Amino acid sequence: MDANKKWLSIPKEFRTKLKNNVFCAHCANVATIESFTIEDHSAGIVLTGKCQKCGNGVARVVEIE
Ligand SMILES: [Zn+2]
Repeated sequence: MDANKKWLSIPKEFRTKLKNNVFCAHCANVATIESFTIEDHSAGIVLTGKCQKCGNGVARVVEIE
């Protein structure tokens, strides 16, 4: 299964929660990720994009069994 399919296999509500719960080091707070790409990761997938607030690069690993 490719990374994008893994992401889409997650229920939509949970995906929204994940997108809205990404730590931004620049804001030093929880942020929303935007313009992200999805890639494979050893633990599942990783979202790599930008903080919606400040544009700083952020990433979020999503563990998938
Ligand atoms: Zn930020």
